[in-house]
Amino acid sequence: MEITEIQVDGYEKVVRCRDQESGLHALIAVHDTSLGPSLGGMRMWPYASEDEALFDVLRLSKGMTYKSAVAETGLGGGKSVILGDPKTDKCEALFRAMGKFIDSLDGIYITAEDMNIGIPDLETVHKETRWVTGLSRSEGSSGNPSPFTAEGCLIGLRAVAEELDGSTSLEGKKVVIQGVGAVGGALAILLKEEGAHVTICDINEKRCIEMKEQYGFDVVSDEDHLDVECDIYSPCARGAGINDETIPRLRCRAIAGCANNQMLETRHAKDVRDRGILYAPDYVLNAGGIINVSVELREGGYDEGFARERIARIYHNLKEVFEISRRDDIPTNEAALRLANARLEEARAAKG
Ligand code: NAD
Repeated sequence: MEITEIQVDGYEKVVRCRDQESGLHALIAVHDTSLGPSLGGMRMWPYASEDEALFDVLRLSKGMTYKSAVAETGLGGGKSVILGDPKTDKCEALFRAMGKFIDSLDGIYITAEDMNIGIPDLETVHKETRWVTGLSRSEGSSGNPSPFTAEGCLIGLRAVAEELDGSTSLEGKKVVIQGVGAVGGALAILLKEEGAHVTICDINEKRCIEMKEQYGFDVVSDEDHLDVECDIYSPCARGAGINDETIPRLRCRAIAGCANNQMLETRHAKDVRDRGILYAPDYVLNAGGIINVSVELREGGYDEGFARERIARIYHNLKEVFEISRRDDIPTNEAALRLANARLEEARAAKG
């Protein structure tokens, strides 16, 4: 197993692992540990090149620093990627080698689930390192983060409603959700319980039909969903959905969903603001999952009640972001970044 360091400005540590025996080719980026050890998921993807994988791991690990700083998880930002095809390249030896790779960093990087990585994969990684979170509840771990992400989104939507209309009530609010998977589906149900009028769309037609039959949601096709007039548009599928093509079509008063990196480019948050649409920055709103995982690392171990208390803070974090945006006359994504940087500076100053 060959572990080599890659020097990248602005990152505390970036390492590559090549292991001939298992076929592992992976990268770990530790962006910042000012607030605590770095935590971020492990992703497996058939990247076309190492450069592409490096670009991804750098971008994602930096994002985790900001997300955790705003969410006050007591963690820093990191991420890992495995270069490979999740359909054909997964095996015990690969994940064992990944475990050894993570272990070589002595806890400055802690891993969790991300795209194409499931609990069974992490369980294999766990055989070689203790620096794994998000394993099953039966092992005393925090389990599936999605319901907590959905709960955090609902709490954040109350701050959005208040910003729009002066009341946290979601009753009667028209919400369009794109993507009713693990998070979007749970959010749709929670919103219905609050009396919101929910319209859903998903490229998985079967899922839409099931949810319509069970909960009575209105269903719209993915092609047409942007044409539905609503109070809140909630992207819960994939990133980059808010872009030059879609912005002129938006018929909502606010954008607030769980999908990561909703704006194709940073400038799109300004474009949205110029059209009078309120944007709840994704990483502030969707932090419920990481907050839940972070509770697993505290002394005394995981406690669901404590996790819920921490998740409730998403409301206050969003209020603060909206306040900074108003005060400094800047888009909300910049306001979120200011809040994250202020919290990082504070931690660095405290450390001396
Ligand atoms: P998921 O795979 O369970 O659900 C995604 C859903 O979106 C699926 O039902 C899929 O069919 C649908 N979809 C995909 N492309 C679509 C499109 N173009 N139009 C309409 N529907 C589409 O994923 P998830 O765990 O619910 O995560 C959703 C998003 O939230 C992702 O961007 C993820 O990175 C982000 N996120 C998830 C969590 C979590 O705890 N799961 C935490 C933070 C952020």
